[in-house]
Formats: sequence, C-alpha cells, structure tokens
Amino acid sequence: DVVLELQGVEKTYNRGRPNAVEVLSGADLAVRAGEMVALVAPSGAGKSTLLHIAGLLDVADAGSVRIGGREMVGLSDRRRTAVRRREVGFVYQFHHLLPEFSALENVMLPQLANGTGRANAMTRAGDLLSRVGVGARADHRPAAMSGGEQQRVAFCRALANEPRLLLADEPTGNLDPATSDRVFETLIELARDTGLSAVIATHNMALAARMDRVLRLENGGLVAA
Ligand code: ADP
Ligand code: ADP
Repeated sequence: DVVLELQGVEKTYNRGRPNAVEVLSGADLAVRAGEMVALVAPSGAGKSTLLHIAGLLDVADAGSVRIGGREMVGLSDRRRTAVRRREVGFVYQFHHLLPEFSALENVMLPQLANGTGRANAMTRAGDLLSRVGVGARADHRPAAMSGGEQQRVAFCRALANEPRLLLADEPTGNLDPATSDRVFETLIELARDTGLSAVIATHNMALAARMDRVLRLENGGLVAA
C-alpha cells in the first residue's frame, strides 16, 4: 500500500534562462502506509522543492506524482487543492500559526475549512493538543508560547484533518538542540500513533536514524543513506 510515489521527477527553476537551477533530475520515491522516511541533504540540495512537489504546492517539469495510487500530474488546480487539503499535512521550520487566534482555534481552522462542524473540530483540536503536551495552553495565542510549544501546535494543525501523509521541512530546525530532540520525539510518536506516512527533511542525523529509512538527496535524485 503505497501512499506517496514519485517517479522520474524533474524540476529546474528559471528553465531556459541564464540563471537556471536544475534541482531535481529523475527523483524516485515510494512511501508505504505507516512508513516514516527521513530526507537528508545539505541546504540548497532541493529538499523543500521535493516536499512542495510531493505535497502538491508546486508542479514538476516532468515525472509522475501519485498520492494514494492516484496520478496528480494533469489534475486541475482545484482538484489538486482538494487532494492536498484532505490527504496532506505540512509542518515547516517556522510554525506559521495565525497570531490572532488561540492554539485551539489554530487547530480548528483547517477542520472548519474542510467542512467539519464546530463542536467536532473543537473536540479533535483539544485531543490533539493534549496528546502533544500542550493541552493546558489551548487558549493561549502563539506569541504567549515557547518555540517548542508553537511547533507542537503546528503538528496538531497539520494532523487536524487526519491526512494520510505528513510532509515536514526541518520541523525542529528553529529550536535549541535539547528542545528539538523532545519536540521531534513527539512528532514521531504522534505519527506512529496515527499510522501516518511521513517524509521529514532534517539536518539532524541522530533524529533521522529514528525513522524507518533515511534517504539522501544527491545530484537531483534520491539514494539510500
Ligand atoms: P533545500 O530545501 O534543500 O535547502 P530548496 O529546494 O529550497 O533546497 O532549493 C534548491 C535550489 O533551488 C536552491 O539552489 C534554491 O536557491 C533554488 N530555488 C528554490 N526555489 C526557487 C525558486 N522559486 N526560484 C529559483 N530558485 C529556487
Ligand atoms: P529552506 O529553509 O527550506 O532552506 P529557503 O530559504 O531555501 O528555505 O527557501 C525559502 C523559500 O524561498 C522557499 O519557498 C523557496 O521556494 C524560495 N526560494 C529559495 N531560493 C530561492 C531563489 N533563489 N529564488 C526564489 N525563491 C527562492
């Protein structure tokens, strides 16, 4: 049961211009249900580009992108957006929480946008926040929380709509090392508990080694690390 499959993905920025940057040239990846894959590479190698293409935020120049066995290349923007909202959760290095809203509301919003009723959205948001250890902070705005707490809330928001696939780009890269380890651990547990598939870009080899597999992005392709 393959949740995410990339085949022969190519991406060049500024194609055909003097400042062209070839980032991906035949990237292949298959992530099975419940599998957690670490993606390691130096800065600028193309991790964000790969995650954006896998998560339907950007389009490849060539190749195939399948989510849940369905080809995404060639779908209309509207359909891609619908699949992304239903199937994919994102976590970034910076939390991107909405500053005017409480932690609880930040986790409720994607559910409301997907048509979940207010009461159910609130219950699920509260459950998620408790599971990652910030239940007591549910009514706080992001600015009143520590960096680690903010990222925990961002994980909850990413999982609010029960996606099958989690894509994380240096999810703890903005935290001090000790906090990073603890928060990363929470993310692993949360993903394991929910049976999620995940691709997590990280510079931290010790954390990467906790995943099922480690892949390196090298010369535009993915190889076992
Ligand atoms: P990583 O996440 O591994 O740091 P990125 O995917 O962000 O790598 O970037 C890969 C390369 O592509 C870098 O050289 C970066 O400068 C370049 N790049 C990324 N996005 C764009 C863009 N929108 N336009 C032009 N170049 C880009
Ligand atoms: P990361 O923390 O993943 O390494 P970057 O600083 O490489 O992020 O990129 C941040 C954002 O800016 C990304 O969304 C990327 O697509 C975009 N970007 C990166 N490099 C370029 C570039 N040379 N030109 C335009 N956009 C870029």
